Amino acid sequence: MISRLPLFPPASDVNDRGHLVIGGCDVVDLAAEFGTPLYLFDEASLRDKCREFKDEFGSRYVDMTVVYSCKAFINKALLLLTNEEGLGLDVVSGGELAIARSVDFPMDKIYFAGNNKSGEELRQSLEWGLGRLVVDNFHELKMLGELTKEMGCTQDILLRLTPGVDPHTHRYIATGVVDSKFGIPLSQGEKAMVAAMSMPGVNLLGLHFHIGSQIAEVEPYQESIRRLLGLAAEMKQKHGFELREFDVGGGFAVQYTLDAPAPPVSFYAEAVTSCVITECREHRFELPHLVIEPGRSVVARAGVAVYTAGVIKDIPNVRRYVSVDGGMADNIRPALYQARHEAVVANKMTEPEADTVTIAGKFCEPGDVLIRDIGLPAVVANDIIAVAGCGAYCLTEATNYNASFKPPIIMVGEGKARLIRRREALEDLTRCDVV
Ligand SMILES: *Cc1c(COP(=O)(O)O)cnc(C)c1O
Repeated sequence: MISRLPLFPPASDVNDRGHLVIGGCDVVDLAAEFGTPLYLFDEASLRDKCREFKDEFGSRYVDMTVVYSCKAFINKALLLLTNEEGLGLDVVSGGELAIARSVDFPMDKIYFAGNNKSGEELRQSLEWGLGRLVVDNFHELKMLGELTKEMGCTQDILLRLTPGVDPHTHRYIATGVVDSKFGIPLSQGEKAMVAAMSMPGVNLLGLHFHIGSQIAEVEPYQESIRRLLGLAAEMKQKHGFELREFDVGGGFAVQYTLDAPAPPVSFYAEAVTSCVITECREHRFELPHLVIEPGRSVVARAGVAVYTAGVIKDIPNVRRYVSVDGGMADNIRPALYQARHEAVVANKMTEPEADTVTIAGKFCEPGDVLIRDIGLPAVVANDIIAVAGCGAYCLTEATNYNASFKPPIIMVGEGKARLIRRREALEDLTRCDVV
């Protein structure tokens, strides 16, 4: 199982008790102290990823900003950390925006995307002095035009266009194809840009695309860059449009399993920045301010889910199920889009693989399976199972299905653990009930 360590936060290790160690903490001890299911984040890994994105893109393209897309994982402590690291923030709802505001995240560093923003969300953004509104559609543009007029203010915006590029990822997480609920089709780009440029309270700074998630190739980014910059060039000629900012979204892939490696950040950085620079030269543009919006790739590997094994069910000649004390309520990704994870037995790191098992959750859906057919040492009840790559889209998509409590979250580093979210309790489940 030591071969799976590269899927865990960097510097994860095994101690002389044969236990998994993350951030200098014995994961088996953490499970005993905080209970399971438990989510832990390795602080050094989070900070290093923020810096890696800033360094790899920033060293190739000076005028650029890294914006963390917080729908991957949002928590007050995490927002403080990303702010400390100098990242901006991408939000997709008034709720995320309000949480950011509650920790005094600088409003001018926030980008607000989303395909169906409400009038209230727009009004709130204008009142709070939002950095950029990423306008998704004509309806929103019209509402914004009216609101800015009524409130007598101006808002910097980017227009989100769908380049019509297939990112070769699961169709549930592809967002840049023509047939998508997100963004304005390229064919209507001119109409949207002309409309935005005619609105006194709307300052069209540039263009935005976000073509999907878990994208392991760079060609879809490059093709999208070429298409949008082509449109920008046409618009410059026809309407005097100046592209001052260009946002290429997020979607950078993460390695979840040993058989599916993902490219390093430097690979995306090189491909994206060189393409933007070449195309801008071609069109005789000054280089615009470049923005990237990584979410998953900042947090996925830093996060680990820790469970306790319970029932072991043997169906002779069919399958051995190991049921754990969490599952689809804290990680719906395998059930929702066949996401794959790998795991280890945290208290048996040096034991050889003995069984092929299926790790099932405890929730009442047959689809509640976390991992199918994984080789592990012989698992017995009360063993501690640690699942790698659980930092992104697990907790933010968590539910209280079967009246389960959402798990506690801890931040680990330098041998210490601190709670950044407590486990839910009965009061949390019934707080909104009215009798
Ligand atoms: C979700 C999202 C991202 C981040 O995507 P990841 O795959 O998590 O990197 C970036 N930009 C926008 C607009 C998004 O909706």
